[in-house]
Amino acid sequence: MLIGVPAETAAGETRVAVTPETAKKLVGQGHLLRVQSGAGLRASATDAAYTAAGAEIVDAAGALAADLVLKVRSPSEGERAQMKPGAALLGMLDPFDKAGLQALTDARLTAFALEAAPRTTRAQSMDVLSSQANIGGYKAVMIAADNYPRLFPMMMTAAGTIKAARVVILGVGVAGLQAIATAKRLGAVIEASDVRPSVKEQVESLGAKFIEVAYETAEEKEAAEGVGGYARPMPPSWLERQKVEVAKRVAAADVVISTALIPGRPAPELITEAMVQSMKPGSVIVDMAAGRGNGGGGNCPLTEAGKTVLKHGVTIVGETNLPALVAADSSALYARNVLDFLKLVLEKDAAALKIDLEDDIVKACLMCRDGTLLRT
Ligand code: NAD
Repeated sequence: MLIGVPAETAAGETRVAVTPETAKKLVGQGHLLRVQSGAGLRASATDAAYTAAGAEIVDAAGALAADLVLKVRSPSEGERAQMKPGAALLGMLDPFDKAGLQALTDARLTAFALEAAPRTTRAQSMDVLSSQANIGGYKAVMIAADNYPRLFPMMMTAAGTIKAARVVILGVGVAGLQAIATAKRLGAVIEASDVRPSVKEQVESLGAKFIEVAYETAEEKEAAEGVGGYARPMPPSWLERQKVEVAKRVAAADVVISTALIPGRPAPELITEAMVQSMKPGSVIVDMAAGRGNGGGGNCPLTEAGKTVLKHGVTIVGETNLPALVAADSSALYARNVLDFLKLVLEKDAAALKIDLEDDIVKACLMCRDGTLLRT
């Protein structure tokens, strides 16, 4: 099959969907691979490395005109116009972006959004949300440490003792767990909150303290169970109690990393302006939900998407694409996720995809086909 890998054009996007490592595997499977010149450069993959892997280096039009286009982000209008009707597209296409999916449908593409894969054991090797959130959680802590005018570890020196940084993590999914592990390695003292009580054990196993908030009503208990491993919106009664507990921790914190998300909904507001005011000068918030909260903020309404701002003496980092700041490794993991998904739909030497709708992963990821929008 003719496979194309265009360079990403979204602002700040540095990743690439195929690395020389996965290029070699695709070529080895009998496919013709066309990579746009420079597509991997920001992820440390040169044209020469792709050529050595057996790919052909082409221009953007050459990569977009393939039968199967592998991307990181959804194609722009200009890119869609260069794709062939009936071609297949694979990427992080945002399953909750109805207008974006409609545009792919209208372009008569067969589009797979990898974020829609179920969080099951079989789908783990192609789970792009996990592979990228893991890197994001690590980088959030690195950025926090970089912006924090003090040290993370406790240090006993001849000139006196320096206290360990107090870090609060809000939302303990994949990103939050990695943030805990990374902050721990740097020597911080960590507390973490999540709506799902099942994460308490994971938090404690990483050496952090879980912020307990009781579930008092049947409605609260049911909501806390979530759905498919994801969080559901919690009743206001529980959120109020969580806010009280979180406010105490945030006031004493040096660094807050917030990662709380609810699929398909605005990110919950967990760090109010009053909480920011209560923090010590020089404290840092890295809001990983930046741009996904109500009004463009994140878990904190003072967050400004894509910017680092100083509010009430607190540095608030609103970086919206942390994995793109670690482009080589995030691309390496993403490209392996892509390759693993392809094993479900593309056979060796095949000239066309084989789409088996009995396969729960394939079915969940398929957004549109033959001009029909399948995701409702
Ligand atoms: P996510 O990015 O959707 O959300 C981040 C975290 O925010 C979640 O832990 C969520 O519970 C939490 N959150 C939401 N509202 C909150 C609030 N008001 N206060 C505090 N926290 C709040 O989550 P994710 O990282 O994509 O992980 C989602 C789930 O999928 C987790 O249960 C994870 O363990 C599971 N998972 C399973 C597999 C697998 O089995 N293959 C792989 C990866 C992840």
